[in-house]
Amino acid sequence: MFICAECRREMKCVFNGMAADYGNGVVYNSDVWQCPECNKQMLHTNDYLTHDPDYNLCRYYLTMRTKDSAPGPIHKVLEKFKKSQN
Ligand SMILES: [Zn+2]
Repeated sequence: MFICAECRREMKCVFNGMAADYGNGVVYNSDVWQCPECNKQMLHTNDYLTHDPDYNLCRYYLTMRTKDSAPGPIHKVLEKFKKSQN
């Protein structure tokens, strides 16, 4: 279980199939968890990277910040849609 350190509430899983995208096809599949009090979200990724250059693995991709990016929370989301399940 995940606990929001600020609110001390148990976080809830709100979305499955978000990939943490590090570029060059390197992604980590994850679920999105959210605090019911303050609505802060976090990704719970799996432990192994997947090579997914064509964005076929997950429903959404979150572009990760790099070390050179400005500091702050991760908030850029939902950039890439999987083309189709059909
Ligand atoms: Zn909270």
